[in-house]
Amino acid sequence: MDCLFCSIVKGEIPSTKIYENEWVYAFADIDPQAPFHAIIIPKEHIASASDITAENSFLVAKVFEAVAAIAKAENLEEGYRVVNNCGKLGGQTVGHIHFHLLARRNLAWPPG
Ligand code: AMP
Ligand code: ZN
Repeated sequence: MDCLFCSIVKGEIPSTKIYENEWVYAFADIDPQAPFHAIIIPKEHIASASDITAENSFLVAKVFEAVAAIAKAENLEEGYRVVNNCGKLGGQTVGHIHFHLLARRNLAWPPG
């Protein structure tokens, strides 16, 4: 299967690592939308939020454990936003579930 983020996890495509453990990998977004913009993914291939099941949902919890660890390490105590784009109308462009962690600017709401 051809998946950009699986290739990044395997190291076949270079990335700037921000955080890693047994379950998740986080790296700098190539086109940052905020002064701090990380992409956090489960290492296991899951296509989108619509493919979360009782068997793999613990990986979403692992992603949010990584969010908390990164926020602490990067001193994001002023706040941040976690975004998951799902499907065509949701703006998802890479078919491996991922969570954007955006920080270090005032983030508008609603997001538009
Ligand atoms: P989404 O639009 O939610 O699917 O987000 C995909 C994100 O992946 C975008 O913010 C892209 O800038 C980012 N992206 C695409 N290719 C790479 C890459 N090779 N390294 C890092 N980030 C990437
Ligand atoms: Zn994948």
